[in-house]
Amino acid sequence: MTTHTPSSVPNQPLDAQRLWRQDKDHFIHPFTDFSVFHEKGCELITDSEGVFVSDIHGNRFIDGIAGLWCVNVGHGRSEIGQAMADQATRMAYFSTFNNLSNAPAAALAAKLAELAPAHLNHVFYTCGGSTANDATIRLVHYYFNRLGKPTKKRILSRRNAYHGTTYLSASLTGIESNNWEFDTLDHLVTHVSEANLYRRPEGMSEDAYCDHLVKEFEDTIASIGADNIAAFIAEPIMGAGGVLVAPDGYHARMQAVCRANDILYIADEVVTGFGRLGHFFSSEAVFDTQPDIINVAKGLSSGYAPLGATLISDKLYEVLGTPQGKGGVLSTGFTYSGHPVSCAAALKNIEILERENICANVRQVGPYLEQALKSLSHHATVGDVRGSHFMMCIENVADKATKELLPLEARVGDRVAFEAQKRGLIIRPVGHLNVVSPPLIWTRETIDTAVAILDEALAATTASLQ
Ligand code: PLP
Repeated sequence: MTTHTPSSVPNQPLDAQRLWRQDKDHFIHPFTDFSVFHEKGCELITDSEGVFVSDIHGNRFIDGIAGLWCVNVGHGRSEIGQAMADQATRMAYFSTFNNLSNAPAAALAAKLAELAPAHLNHVFYTCGGSTANDATIRLVHYYFNRLGKPTKKRILSRRNAYHGTTYLSASLTGIESNNWEFDTLDHLVTHVSEANLYRRPEGMSEDAYCDHLVKEFEDTIASIGADNIAAFIAEPIMGAGGVLVAPDGYHARMQAVCRANDILYIADEVVTGFGRLGHFFSSEAVFDTQPDIINVAKGLSSGYAPLGATLISDKLYEVLGTPQGKGGVLSTGFTYSGHPVSCAAALKNIEILERENICANVRQVGPYLEQALKSLSHHATVGDVRGSHFMMCIENVADKATKELLPLEARVGDRVAFEAQKRGLIIRPVGHLNVVSPPLIWTRETIDTAVAILDEALAATTASLQ
């Protein structure tokens, strides 16, 4: 039936059954659906090369999600492995607290300052995206405390935003189901509406919708009081919340409202950074904003090692960097802030991105991916195909005209992903959505193969729902 049977890789000396059992008995997976896990356990991914990953049984798949929106330069880059090994052998770890540093952390900070918008010249390292967002909010509060504005505490975020799962970043996250039966720090965060063009009020133009969102934002600020609000945080394109691209001009207008109200503007570029939209940073290049802070992770090291970073403006640094006196220090940071092996991985990753001109590949091939995925719109369940460049998603619906969703129990996203994986492509199900966020080295040929698989997977899903 299918023309895309996964091919095999040489057997690995791994005991599949034993590992499966060890995992099932002892590993609590992030974001696990236990109704499935208790029955099926894990799938072990053991090998990877370029745009492919393989499971322990030797089945090979095209990676349609770059690991988890992160393996931007693709898999199996031995030069990144070598850079990490060299650093681990020379000096695997030492503190960066106080005035201690290491060579890769220093060099990477300078490189990030060079790549980022001109006013962002200071880097605070974290362990990933959640800790970048978490650390940012602590720094923002500290900033306003030091300025003598201690009431500025509230953070404005957006419904359906994803900013991570530390206590504070989970509170910034606005995807309701993510926090079911978890607690959140509601006194610190207020959520405004996300920009969802597909589900905007019937008959409203894009411009009018943008006006409506900006007005809601201004009204929210007025009701809380700007003196009580520290910052607004937004993903340039909302990722896990449904790959939502805002109306033209939205971000610049939201930033202008922030500026007028002495509210800091934080861009969470954990997904959109490092090439996914064709630029190292999309805030300025694509969305015409100059955030006070940009947070990055994922593509920063292409997932070869855990790393996040908060890029801070000169204006903020002037205040953060003022000596505390009385023996006080900037008491925030992690044992692994500026980890030498992670920073070495990031430096090599950036070298590859630059040397292979990967951002240019995304700018050239991205529109082809958008068009190819849009060609799937004829399927009965495909309500919307949206996104930009290498950050795409399909929204599945029960009825295209009314945009009504299928019942959750239909697990439509899971079905499509399952059918695709059977045919050799891994994409990500998120409720009724399917995310396609591939390594940035996908070529037109890879896209043709992946979209042909998706075409079959969607047809099979439609058939299975009848
Ligand atoms: N911010 C955004 C926009 C993300 O998509 C993610 C993860 O998907 C995070 C933050 C959290 O990053 P991490 O999982 O590295 O903590």
